[in-house]
Amino acid sequence: MSEFLPDISPKPAKAQKLVGVKGMNDVLPPDSARWEWLEAKVRTLMSRYAYRNIRTPIVEPTALFVRGLGEVTDIVEKEMYSFEDRLNGEQLTLRPECTAGVVRAVVEHNMLYEGGKRLYYMGPMFRHERPQRGRYRQFHQIGAEVLGFAGAEVDAELILLADALWKELGLNDVRLELNSLGQPTERLAHRAALIAHLTQHADLLDDEAKRRLHSNPLRILDTKNPAMLSVVESAPRLLDFLGEASLAHFHAVQAILDANGVLYSINPRLVRGMDYYNLTVFEFITTSLGSQGTICGGGRYDYLIEQVGGKPAPAVGWALGVERVLELIKDQGEALPEPAPDVYAIVPETTALPVAMQVLQVLRAQGVSAQMHAGSGDSMGSMKSQFKKADASGARFALVFGAEEMAQGLVAVKSLRDGAGAQRTESLTSAAAWAYSLQSPLQSATSS
Ligand code: ATP
Ligand code: MG
Repeated sequence: MSEFLPDISPKPAKAQKLVGVKGMNDVLPPDSARWEWLEAKVRTLMSRYAYRNIRTPIVEPTALFVRGLGEVTDIVEKEMYSFEDRLNGEQLTLRPECTAGVVRAVVEHNMLYEGGKRLYYMGPMFRHERPQRGRYRQFHQIGAEVLGFAGAEVDAELILLADALWKELGLNDVRLELNSLGQPTERLAHRAALIAHLTQHADLLDDEAKRRLHSNPLRILDTKNPAMLSVVESAPRLLDFLGEASLAHFHAVQAILDANGVLYSINPRLVRGMDYYNLTVFEFITTSLGSQGTICGGGRYDYLIEQVGGKPAPAVGWALGVERVLELIKDQGEALPEPAPDVYAIVPETTALPVAMQVLQVLRAQGVSAQMHAGSGDSMGSMKSQFKKADASGARFALVFGAEEMAQGLVAVKSLRDGAGAQRTESLTSAAAWAYSLQSPLQSATSS
C-alpha cells in the first residue's frame, strides 16, 4: 500500500454517512435522461456543422490557466482548485474552463499544420464559487472552438451554430448580445481614457474596482455591483476607439447574422471574464434564470495560442453552461418522455432463468430494450408482484416465462399498454425473428 494513503482502521460500530462535496452535484435518473438527450442533440448538430470532438484531461498544469486566462481574473484570483502533486511537486489545477486545455492540446499535437480545425467538447469544469441556483463548484460546459481562421465568417458560424442549438432545444427566451474588444493597441488607447474616467469617480468605486483600476480596468465595466452602474455607463466606450479593420470585422459578423435573421443587440459594456479575448465577444442571455441568466459566452482569442507557446494563429469559440441550459429546458422546452424499456421479463421460477436470459440477450441484440425481473436470491417473487414491477417500469409488453409455455418451447407476450391484456405466444428459439414486434415504432424508425 502507498505510504501516502491514510491508515484505515477497523470499521467503527456505525459508520458515519458520507456526503458529496458542497456545490458538486450527482445527476440521477430520471434527470440524467435529459442530460443524455441534450448531449445527443449537440452531437448531431456539431456533426452537421462539421465540428469534431476533442477530449482533454480534467487536470492541467496551473501555469496554463494563469498564463492563458490572465492573472487578474476572477477565476485565477479566487476560483481555481489548485494543488501540488504529492509525488513530484507539480502545480496542478482542476480545469475551470476548457479553452486553455484545447489550445494546449492543439499546440502540443501541432494540429494546425495542415489548416484550421473546428472542435467541440463536453465535460465537467471546477470553480470555487458560492453555490446557488445556476452556479456550482463542479458544473458542466459544452464548448465549440474554431482555430486557425481569422475571418469574420467563423465568428458568425459559431453564433449561428449556438442559435440553431437553442431552436433545436425548443428555447425561445434567449437573446444575443454582441460587442467588439478590438485589438490590443486600440484597447491601450481606451484604457488610458477609462482609467482617467474611473479615477475621476474614485469615490464611487468598490474595493475590487479600486484594486483593478490599474491592473485590469476593462473588467470593471463587467461589474455586477449596482452602485457602480452610473460610473460604468458613463465610461468611454471601447467601440469608439476601434480602427477601420476592427470595425470592418465587427460589421462583417453582423452582416452574416442579419442575412440569417439572427437578432442581437450591441452591448458596449460586454467584456467577458477572461483576458484572452479580442475583436468579437458575445453572450446568450435569458431573462428566465434570474441573475444566473448567461447561458453561453464566447468570442475571438487570436493571441492565446501564442501565449501558451504555439506558433501564432487566430481562434474563436464559445462555451455554454449545461446546468443553466437544462434548467431553461425544464422551464420552456418540451417535456421529455420518461425512459421505459420495451419489455419486462417475468420469470415465475428461478429454474427458467437460463433460458429467459438467453432470449433477452437475443432480443437486445436486435435492438429491443429489455428489463429483467430480479428476485431475492432463492425466489423470484409472486406473479402479482412481478406484474406490478412490470407496470411500474413503463414497459409496453411483459414476457412471461411460465413453466407451461416453456414446456412447449414458447413464451407468452402480454400487452401492458394499448389493448392491455392482449396475449400471444412466440417461439423461444426464434426471438430474433419476432423482436421487431416489441419495439416502439419510433425506435425501429431511428435504429434502422
Ligand atoms: P458568470 O458571469 O455567470 O460567472 P462566466 O463569465 O464566469 O459566467 P464563462 O467562463 O464564460 O462564465 O463560462 C461559460 C458559461 O458557463 C457561462 O455562461 C455559464 O452558463 C456557465 N457557468 C460558468 N460558471 C458556472 C458555474 N459556477 N456554475 C454553473 N455554470 C457556470
Ligand atoms: Mg464567473
